[in-house]
Amino acid sequence: MINLILFGPPGSGKGTQAAKLLKKYKLIHISTGDLFRFNLKNNTPLGLEAKKYIDKGELVPDAVTINMLTEKVNEHPDAKGFIFDGFPRNVHQSEALDALLKSKGSAVSALISLDVDDEELVKRLLERGKTSGRKDDSDESIIRNRLKVYYNETTPVFDYYEKTGKSVKVNGVGTLLAVFRRLCKLMNKL
Ligand code: AMP
Repeated sequence: MINLILFGPPGSGKGTQAAKLLKKYKLIHISTGDLFRFNLKNNTPLGLEAKKYIDKGELVPDAVTINMLTEKVNEHPDAKGFIFDGFPRNVHQSEALDALLKSKGSAVSALISLDVDDEELVKRLLERGKTSGRKDDSDESIIRNRLKVYYNETTPVFDYYEKTGKSVKVNGVGTLLAVFRRLCKLMNKL
């Protein structure tokens, strides 16, 4: 199995690149942000619970997030592998992911982090907010809070996988295709 964590701050292009990677490598794409938004749209209890946090740019509690992720992974017993996008967001979630994959005789293959500077991220997210309808993309103070949460809570995930030599950084600035080629170079080594 190839299990890739596509990592990086909000607006770094994880979702866009995951969509291209899953076609080429035939992997299952799991975006916890997309799963929360799907639940939100359908007014499920999970969606309503998550909304309280998403609207402020805070992380949804781990128990809720990890359960949702586990269920999604278990829906695909025959997967060739997964692209995890927006998960894990803290070290506790990383440990939960490792345990889940281990129970399936597998492990995280690599964490690839898309490197983009803050001002470019804010610009991209505000631009996306004009069409995405996402409240958390339309308000600069919520965007800045998401970045703060990323640096405080999520960047330790990079260090966590770096200890086993699995973390790598890629320049996330450039055309969609240029960034995709950089990612493929790394994927082909897995
Ligand atoms: P994203 O689409 O990945 O930017 O996620 C949007 C929002 O969903 C985040 O700001 C969080 O509120 C929530 N979220 C997504 N993934 C996670 C996660 N792994 N843990 C906690 N909250 C998450």
